[in-house]
Amino acid sequence: MAYNFRNRNLLNTRGAYLGSSGSDSESQDDSDPDFLTPSRTPRRSTQNNTARAGGASSIRNLSGKRARGNGEEHKRGLRERHRRRRKRFSQVPQAQISRRTVLSWLIGSGVIEEKEAVWYVAAQSGNILGEGKVNREGILCSCCSGQLTVEEFEVHSGRKTRKPYQYIYLAGSQVSLLDCQIEAWEDKEEEERRTFNNIQPASKAVDRNDDACMVCADGGDLICCERCPSTFHPRCIFMEIIPQGDWLCPYCICKYCGNGNGNGPLMQCSQCEKKYHFRCGGETLDLMNPPVAFCGSSCRKIYKGLHNLLGSQNELHDGLTWTLLQRTDEPFTGSYGEEEYKRIQCNSKIAVAWLVMNECFLSTVDRHTRANIVQSIVYNRGSYVTRINYSGFYTAILEKNDEIISVASIRVHGKRLAEMPFIGTRGEYRRLGMAYVLENCIESTLCSLKVEKLVIPSVSQLTGMWMDKYFFSRVQEERLVKELSLYNTVMFPSSVVRLHKNLAMLPDLNLSPQENEGHF
Ligand SMILES: [Zn+2]
Ligand SMILES: [Zn+2]
Ligand SMILES: [Zn+2]
Ligand SMILES: [Zn+2]
Ligand SMILES: [Zn+2]
Repeated sequence: MAYNFRNRNLLNTRGAYLGSSGSDSESQDDSDPDFLTPSRTPRRSTQNNTARAGGASSIRNLSGKRARGNGEEHKRGLRERHRRRRKRFSQVPQAQISRRTVLSWLIGSGVIEEKEAVWYVAAQSGNILGEGKVNREGILCSCCSGQLTVEEFEVHSGRKTRKPYQYIYLAGSQVSLLDCQIEAWEDKEEEERRTFNNIQPASKAVDRNDDACMVCADGGDLICCERCPSTFHPRCIFMEIIPQGDWLCPYCICKYCGNGNGNGPLMQCSQCEKKYHFRCGGETLDLMNPPVAFCGSSCRKIYKGLHNLLGSQNELHDGLTWTLLQRTDEPFTGSYGEEEYKRIQCNSKIAVAWLVMNECFLSTVDRHTRANIVQSIVYNRGSYVTRINYSGFYTAILEKNDEIISVASIRVHGKRLAEMPFIGTRGEYRRLGMAYVLENCIESTLCSLKVEKLVIPSVSQLTGMWMDKYFFSRVQEERLVKELSLYNTVMFPSSVVRLHKNLAMLPDLNLSPQENEGHF
């Protein structure tokens, strides 16, 4: 037996896998205990601050120039008081929340109380321009009893900063919704969902390698990479002869020359995550922007294209919008410039998107690391183990009136390949073509970035739908199977069918889903 070829026993039993689901034609599975059926929460009496809200006409030290100097200290004090007060709220379980909005997430996290009074405060003057009460759908305006989204409440108050969370304050604690978002994001429970998956070998472990094949996620006789924890079944990477010496996996060698050493230092591409020598064709590290480096111009273009889209709501038909999200760890400076504001919104929506995904999919646990796969993907958690390193994932969401109704996870492995392991729609919006709308937005984005192929997993019942309605085909050809084995895509058990689609073949995206459906 070759030195790097070992039998690896699985440490843990297989987790529950589901694969791709949540498409429009999928029915709800109520039999599973992990499946949470959203229901309306019973009303409860709440303590409000309406008396104070009604009386005041302006607040000092809240925003604009007057917030400078000891205003910052004052704000910190308010936030601290709010944090303490919050402990008295009786928390509503997230599962019982009927609408998946940022506000409902804040209410579910216990940061805001339902029916809490809010003010829209003018940036410069500090004058109160609007008053209302928070609920899960949005804000109930006090002047006209209109039910408004957060953005509509700003417009209704006569402003259009497009940063409404920054200027809407809780009347009681005088903390902005934006500060509430940061507070909820920094909550311990929330933080645990996104921490780096720092799996280290046990001190008594024989070796530091993974127990599951990177291609098929099964155990057995695996060949181990000498440089990283990845392991493979030789048959899964079409290896006929087991090498006698050190062996390096496809993620530890230069994507151009195939060597793991020589030709200068190996760098990692920020987009496709493959290693490369810059002498072999990749780019040198950009010293102005050290954390990013690219194996070539196509990866650079894809990376820039995706990053430019981050956090921007793209308007579609019928009041729908779609947005590309990715969690970021950059610290908040408190300046709340446009970029920072966007980042805070991105992170909050990631938290809401996870709650939607959790409704749509059975909990899928990596049997070796016990990592919750869907959760780790939505929060793009990193790991030293390539197989469960999800740091390159993006989350695409479809929203209507601030409510997230469909969510998809996508990762682009360079210009050749993108994957979409999960796409889900909330129960009450299924069979309305919502996943179809979101999938089309993702496809046209990938097309504009010149990505050539999209792969998805599908449970066998849905394979026909993906093939007929979305024009996917089965991954069968050996040449394609071989090519895909070189990419670190999320793996599912063998009962899940792999489908692929060449992105040049697109239906007319300018038609609405109903019109398109008529043509198929
Ligand atoms: Zn009104
Ligand atoms: Zn395998
Ligand atoms: Zn390796
Ligand atoms: Zn090279
Ligand atoms: Zn690359």
